[in-house]
Amino acid sequence: MISQLARAVRESPTLKLNEAATRLREKGEAVIHLGSGEPKIKTPIDAILAAAGKLNSADIKYTPTDGTPELKRAVVRYTEENYGHIVQTKNILVSAGAKQALYTLFLTILNPQDEVVIVAPYWVSYPDMVRLAYAVPVIVTPGDGRFIPRMKDIEGRITSYTKAVIINSPNNPSGAVYPEGFIQEIVEYCERKGIFLVMDDIYHRLIFDNQQPVSCYKYAHDMTDDSRLVVINGVSKLYGMTGFRIGWTVANTKIIAAMNNVQAQTTSCPSALLQTAAVGALNGIQNGVASLRMMLENNRNIMVRELQAFEGVRIQKPGGTFYSLPDFSAYNKDSVALCKFLLDKALVVTVPGKEFGMEGHLRLSYCGSVKDIMEGVARIKWALDPNSPREIYIGNRKMVRDWR
Ligand code: PMP
Repeated sequence: MISQLARAVRESPTLKLNEAATRLREKGEAVIHLGSGEPKIKTPIDAILAAAGKLNSADIKYTPTDGTPELKRAVVRYTEENYGHIVQTKNILVSAGAKQALYTLFLTILNPQDEVVIVAPYWVSYPDMVRLAYAVPVIVTPGDGRFIPRMKDIEGRITSYTKAVIINSPNNPSGAVYPEGFIQEIVEYCERKGIFLVMDDIYHRLIFDNQQPVSCYKYAHDMTDDSRLVVINGVSKLYGMTGFRIGWTVANTKIIAAMNNVQAQTTSCPSALLQTAAVGALNGIQNGVASLRMMLENNRNIMVRELQAFEGVRIQKPGGTFYSLPDFSAYNKDSVALCKFLLDKALVVTVPGKEFGMEGHLRLSYCGSVKDIMEGVARIKWALDPNSPREIYIGNRKMVRDWR
């Protein structure tokens, strides 16, 4: 009954865990969510006002498939400001989130059996998206167990079938910010080899410690219509606008035109209302971005401090995003079982590293409150570390560790 294609897509253990967490919450249990993938900030006021104005006009119709001229102009300006790179509106396609942008891109550039090199740890959806385009994901795991990819690991997996490499820095799930030297090398390598380089830059500006975002364009020599450098971005993370579903692709005009055809025959334009909101966010006051970054940096520091004080857990300090990917293999090498255990015993939601190609690790988000981070890690410690006190309060219930 189900197609081969749909069967090739894996079920997400995260969704199951989230459902279990929701059921527990509904029962009134004091669940702490360290699994979240969205900042808790409010939508920027400029986005709200723009969308409200549009709604009041009672004139909400189809827009051009590739996005409204206003939004594409805002993206042109965004690209110039944040990448020091000048593009034209014909280099831009707006989609319903970075996710749709990526999938439309894959449908546009991949033939059956083409290979896409994905560096672990990777965002969960990449391998399945590649499979949905009848192509083959090739996972490269850094040989040194670190979260920064090495060119020699990547080069070793390039074959005559390799069509694209996808890079996500700052990285979901590790929070790693890849060094500028690596970005330079991968841009130059892919250009030399004629391979697509897809930069998923959705967390581009969410970086800490006074780092400056690296522009991949700085190292690109070919900016003609033969360029295979593609940048994906969106408003979801930067403005906490995940529910608005607006993202975009910046690429050469031939790719954008072909993607436009694919999008036109599948979903048409993204919502006119939400595009207007995205224009509001991009063109509005940007204070919110700096305060989001400061809040996340502070949360990152607390998460790292708490995890460093956790014996047996190894943490590589995230340089950006709102994720960390500590190694819990000293406690359990099976991350799915560990997540389930932590939800059952400690009422803490985490995400298994297995989903990101890093078994033995857990993804812990720090986009929530400081209280949740501290209490969440304290509960995990109580559940796992036999040296921690045997008793803990969860909500107003006293819990006693009676295992191990
Ligand atoms: N890429 C990465 C690395 C992400 O983490 C996410 C969101 N979790 C996306 C893309 C998709 O973002 P959007 O909400 O714009 O579809």
